[in-house]
Amino acid sequence: MKTKVFIMEEDKIDLEGVAYAANIIKQGGVVAFPTETVYGLGANALDPLAVKKIFEAKGRPQDNPLIVHVSDKNINNLVDNISSIANDLMEKFFPGPLTIILNKKDIIPDETSAGLKTIGIRMPSNEIARKLIEFSGVPIAAPSANISGRPSPTDVNRCLEDLNDRVECIIGGNNSNVGVESTIVDCTVEPPCVLRPGGITLEQLKQVYNDIYIDPSIMAKPSDDLKPKAPGMKYRHYAPKAPVKIIKGDLKKTIEKINEIVQNYIDNNKTVGIIATEETRQFYKNGYVVSLGSRNDMNKIAHNLFETLRSFDDKNVDVILSEAFDENGIGLAIMNRLNKSAGFHIINV
Ligand code: AMP
Ligand code: MG
Repeated sequence: MKTKVFIMEEDKIDLEGVAYAANIIKQGGVVAFPTETVYGLGANALDPLAVKKIFEAKGRPQDNPLIVHVSDKNINNLVDNISSIANDLMEKFFPGPLTIILNKKDIIPDETSAGLKTIGIRMPSNEIARKLIEFSGVPIAAPSANISGRPSPTDVNRCLEDLNDRVECIIGGNNSNVGVESTIVDCTVEPPCVLRPGGITLEQLKQVYNDIYIDPSIMAKPSDDLKPKAPGMKYRHYAPKAPVKIIKGDLKKTIEKINEIVQNYIDNNKTVGIIATEETRQFYKNGYVVSLGSRNDMNKIAHNLFETLRSFDDKNVDVILSEAFDENGIGLAIMNRLNKSAGFHIINV
């Protein structure tokens, strides 16, 4: 199929383009669009056949549920039993990079929730995304707009790379400024539980409700005795073509270890990508070095992470070595994505 592409900016929305895309959603088609977290691949959340097309275009496993995107905080038609904590979280963080899990009403088909009785709801802050939902007149189910397993796209060219000719329409906007996906909080349990760290930090959530906690399986390698709570948590994710290894510990020792491993690969005629920071890049003399930004600006590091992982595919490196980051604030989401992209291959120094 030929993909129709519209390029616009958040503060200069091409309303005709959005209307064209909304019409595709109304007719049961699939559209990729920008959000502040990563690009989304959307279809009418209430139409099982439309939703099936998302799974097909991405090659997504059928048991991995979708997040439903809304343009309005009034979600009484979609979910039941909204707790007061859920209301407080929506009041504080909608629109924005937060998804809350609630009990779904029957209007949401099992295809969207992958058979679960619960559903994730998010109201994006990106104006193009919200306009698309508004014009469509229906909630939009949307996972990230990448082929399943790959790093999520934060820029329209990466979307095109994965989805050109696989979807009816792609809207390009400004690059996703958060750069990692939404934080997912399960509000069907008491106290609420974070199933995926993301754009809203645990520290921010705790300001609304102090007892919110992190599901222990988030930072651990999935194993038989630690069953993931959400189906999506068990899949290999965010993976560039080359294997990723994380070197973790004291920064000086990290640099030494990375240089030692790089030399080993070079001796074996292999090319190496290095994920560094502004503070450390000068210490790597060999390998293809990319800085994520300064360690003093962790939001920038989150913003650059997926694009950097994908840039190593363009360079065809044989292996990617990454420094590690502190796991507080947005650092928790950064390390969660890095750990998964590395399949938890961590070298402690
Ligand atoms: P993606 O949209 O590709 O970033 O993935 C969405 C994530 O949200 C997946 O990891 C899902 O497992 C998770 N998710 C969506 N709906 C639910 C739900 N009802 N319960 C638990 N996790 C969910
Ligand atoms: Mg995804």
